[in-house]
Amino acid sequence: MDFNLSKEQLLIQRMARDFAEKYIEPVAEQIDRENKIPDDILEGLAELDLFGIPFPEEYGGAGGGYDGYVLAMEQIGRVSGGIAMTLSAHSLGLSAISVFGNEEQKQKYMVPGCKGKHIVSFAFTEPGTGSDPKQITTTAVKDGDHYIINGTKRFISNANWPGAIILFARDDESGKPSGFIIDKGCEGYSISEPWDKMGMHGGMLLDVYLKDVRVPAENLLAGPGMGYPILQLGISFGKVGVSSTALGGMLAAYEEGLKYAKEKMHRDKPISRFQSVQLKIADMAIKYEAARWLTYRLGYLANNVKDPRQFAKEAALTKTFVCETAFEVTRLAMDIHGSYGLMNDYKISRLYRDTIIGPQIEGVADMQKMIVAGLTLAD
Ligand SMILES: Cc1cc2nc3c(=O)[nH]c(=O)nc-3n(C[C@H](O)[C@H](O)[C@H](O)COP(=O)(O)OP(=O)(O)OC[C@H]3O[C@@H](n4cnc5c(N)ncnc54)[C@H](O)[C@@H]3O)c2cc1C
Repeated sequence: MDFNLSKEQLLIQRMARDFAEKYIEPVAEQIDRENKIPDDILEGLAELDLFGIPFPEEYGGAGGGYDGYVLAMEQIGRVSGGIAMTLSAHSLGLSAISVFGNEEQKQKYMVPGCKGKHIVSFAFTEPGTGSDPKQITTTAVKDGDHYIINGTKRFISNANWPGAIILFARDDESGKPSGFIIDKGCEGYSISEPWDKMGMHGGMLLDVYLKDVRVPAENLLAGPGMGYPILQLGISFGKVGVSSTALGGMLAAYEEGLKYAKEKMHRDKPISRFQSVQLKIADMAIKYEAARWLTYRLGYLANNVKDPRQFAKEAALTKTFVCETAFEVTRLAMDIHGSYGLMNDYKISRLYRDTIIGPQIEGVADMQKMIVAGLTLAD
C-alpha cells in the first residue's frame, strides 16, 4: 500500500492547480455572477487537455487515467464548481462512449470531445423521472436504418454546447431503454432557456426537446436494450467526477474557514484561539482527509473496472459520503464566519450554494444508500 502520489500524478495535480489559480480564480466571482464560463478559460482547459484527462491518447485524451482525473478535478472544483460540473458531465458522456462505443464511434465522438472542440452531454432525466429507468417515456421507433426519437429530457448539463449527447430512449423493438449518440446540432433537437439553479454557476442546465429526431441505427450505443448497463456503469464513472468536484468545493470551504479563523479578531486575538472554533477546524480537517482518500481510491478503482456491480457500489458509497461531507464542511466554515458567511460578498456563501448540489445529482443520496445496501446484502 503506497499513499504517495506518483511523479505523473503530482504533475497533473500541479498543472490543474496552477491553471485554476492563475486563470480561473480571478474570474470565479464573475462566472458565478454571470453564469457563463469565459471563452478563453474554455480554450485554456482544452490546451491543457483537461477535457480528456482520463482517456487514452489514441482517442485524443491525455492518458492521465481516472486517478489523474480526480486530482485535476479537485483543483478545478476548488476554484469553480460550475467549471468542474461542466467537465464532469462531459467526461461522463465520454466514459460511456469509451466503454460501450465501437471503434468508429470512439474516433468520431471521443477525439473532438477530448480535445475540447465539443462538450458532451449525457441525458437520462425526464420531467417524470430522475431515478427510475423504468419510467422513461422518450421513444425511439425503428424506421429502416434509422430511429425516430421523440421526447423531453430535463436538467441536462452542457446541452447548449456543440457535440454529442448520449441520450436514453425506450426503443420499440426491445421495449427497454437504449442509449443513442446524437449530434446536438441535428434537426429536431432544441433546448430551453438555462435553468436558474442556485449554485455551480457557469455549468449550464437545460431541458432538451426531441421532435422526430432521425438517428442512424449505427449511432446506437452497444445495441438495442442496452440502456440500463450503460446507465449503471456510465453514472458510476459520473460519480468519480461529482465526488472530485465536491472534494474541491470542500477543500475551498475548509481553506476559507481556516483563513477567517486566523484573521477575525476578538479582543485583539484571532477567533482561532476559541476552543469552539478549534473543534470546527479539527472537524473540517478530519472530514476533508477522509473524503480525499475515498475519492482518490475511487479514481484508482475506475482505472480498472472488472465488476461493474462492485464498482457501482464503490462509486455510490464514495459519492454519497463525499458530497454529504462537502456540505457539512461548508456549513462548519460558514459557522466560523458568523453572519458574514451569509453575505454574498464572502466566498463561503458561493461554496455553500455549490456544495448543496452534490447530494442531489448522479443519483440522489438516499437512492445511493439503497444501491450500497442492496449490493452489500447480495454479496
Ligand atoms: C446540477 C445538476 C446537473 C444535472 N445534470 C444532469 C445531466 O447531465 N443528465 C441528466 O440526465 N440529469 C441531470 N440532472 C438531473 C439529476 O440527475 C436528477 O434530478 C436526479 O437524479 C434526481 O432526480 P429527480 O430530481 O427526478 O428526483 P426523484 O427521482 O423524483 O426523487 C425525489 C425523491 O424521491 C426519492 N425517491 C425516488 N425514487 C425512489 C424509490 N424508488 N424509492 C425510495 N425513494 C425514492 C429520492 O431519494 C428523492 O429524495 C442534473 C441535476 C442537477 C441539479
